[in-house]
Amino acid sequence: MRNEILHKQQIVEIGQWIYHKGFVSGADGNISYREGNEVLMTPRGLCKGRMAVEDLVKTDLEGNQLAGSLQPSGEISMHLEVYNTRPDINAVVHAHPVYATAFAVAGLSINKPILSEVVLTLGCIPLAEYATPTTPEMAQVLRDYIPRYNAILLANHGALSYGETLLQAYYRMETLEHTAQIVTVTKILGRETLISNEDLDKLFAVREKYGIKSPDLRAFGCPVTESSDGSGQTYTVSKSELMELIESVLGKRQ
Ligand SMILES: [Zn+2]
Repeated sequence: MRNEILHKQQIVEIGQWIYHKGFVSGADGNISYREGNEVLMTPRGLCKGRMAVEDLVKTDLEGNQLAGSLQPSGEISMHLEVYNTRPDINAVVHAHPVYATAFAVAGLSINKPILSEVVLTLGCIPLAEYATPTTPEMAQVLRDYIPRYNAILLANHGALSYGETLLQAYYRMETLEHTAQIVTVTKILGRETLISNEDLDKLFAVREKYGIKSPDLRAFGCPVTESSDGSGQTYTVSKSELMELIESVLGKRQ
């Protein structure tokens, strides 16, 4: 791995950021960096605010340990799933930030277009189904979401973000938590004004122009969002109509 020490130092630094910002408590959370077939990983059971570069572990993309005296994080399978699915991604951050995790506990994704910059950078932040941490179930429930999103809420657990660089993966976690805070305060205020579908189209045009490869807010796992300016149409369907619709999409009832 080229510049290994620099990447290790950056992981240690991001560990301090996530700990001191309250994105994790105790020994929670994990951070990794991938180059080629090698992965630098935070170790199991160590506070991210007190890590040293010597504590980091190196594995291959199958999770076999290549270097380091400590054990890799128990949640390594989640990181490897991202790397094995997304060749464009080189860094992963997993944490339990309070507001984002509260959304994950409440069973809510962040899928409304409330902030133009978040629409551009993260699009929708879906909620992946609950899975037991540290087991292969975790990677399995994320499988459908990883190709389409750059940040995911993990039901009754926390959040996952990733990027081309360690800094980008960290900033995405920060943006996710900041957005969750704003959505929460907006709910307290009791009113929300959404970006209209027309303005969303303009935003997505800007995204393409600047080569931003964020997912479309209206993609899989996050429903189409109603425009708030009255131009969006609302459809009401009964349960039986909905079942009929689902059956017609999935094929005839057996
Ligand atoms: Zn966790």
